Amino acid sequence: MASVQIHDVRKSFGGFEVLHGVSVPIEDGAFVVLVGPSGCGKSTLLRMLAGLEKITSGTISIGDRVVNDVQPKERDIAMVFQNYALYPHMTVAQNMGFSLKLRGAEQAIIDEKVNRAADILDLRKLLDRYPRQLSGGQRQRVAMGRAIVRDPQVFLFDEPLSNLDAKLRVAMRTEIKELHQRLKTTTVYVTHDQIEAMTMADKIVVMQDGIVEQMGSPLDLYDRPDNKFVAGFIGSPA
Ligand code: ADP
Ligand code: MG
Repeated sequence: MASVQIHDVRKSFGGFEVLHGVSVPIEDGAFVVLVGPSGCGKSTLLRMLAGLEKITSGTISIGDRVVNDVQPKERDIAMVFQNYALYPHMTVAQNMGFSLKLRGAEQAIIDEKVNRAADILDLRKLLDRYPRQLSGGQRQRVAMGRAIVRDPQVFLFDEPLSNLDAKLRVAMRTEIKELHQRLKTTTVYVTHDQIEAMTMADKIVVMQDGIVEQMGSPLDLYDRPDNKFVAGFIGSPA
């Protein structure tokens, strides 16, 4: 676990600025949800936390360490994407263990970590299956399993539920929250869905057009929205 500090971060693509100085303090062990309309910069911010995108200016720290120039592999972070990105030719167990294998872990250690994650996610009986033999919810759990095996300091989720049907989405929200309660890993979770944000977050960060409009607990934002955009987005009474 670790705290994460996003300080005055800007990002431009080809001279066009899409994040205009974003600051978000994230406490050790918190579940923080970045929410806002499509195109407001949520994924870009998450990709910068993961190190997949370079920041134009500002600072990102994980624990005591400024990570601006630290490669993704060297950051103790695991990311769960929207489209799962499971390897079709690998079994569930191989998918889950792959990142450890890449890092040179011994097979016995990999097996132990994969089995532990499979227990947590109820995937024990599915370890020899291939992704095409799984339901959407099971694939999502494998994607989470891949993140868990690494025992990272921080989990990043980018709209992990948007490809699931409504009923499964509600069930998976609960699973992800339970996982967080169990592991207490600092989590940054991106969604454009206000209800997902309100039900899952310790702290919500409402973004619009590359800036943070407001951050606070779900109740704070609902009771005391700073402006009309936040009120409208969160669905507060007028
Ligand atoms: P969100 O995840 O909130 O929908 P994004 O972070 O994906 O938003 O995108 C924010 C803005 O940055 C958008 O205007 C998008 O078109 C732009 N953008 C994102 N990635 C790139 C890129 N690689 N090159 C150019 N523009 C990009
Ligand atoms: Mg996005």
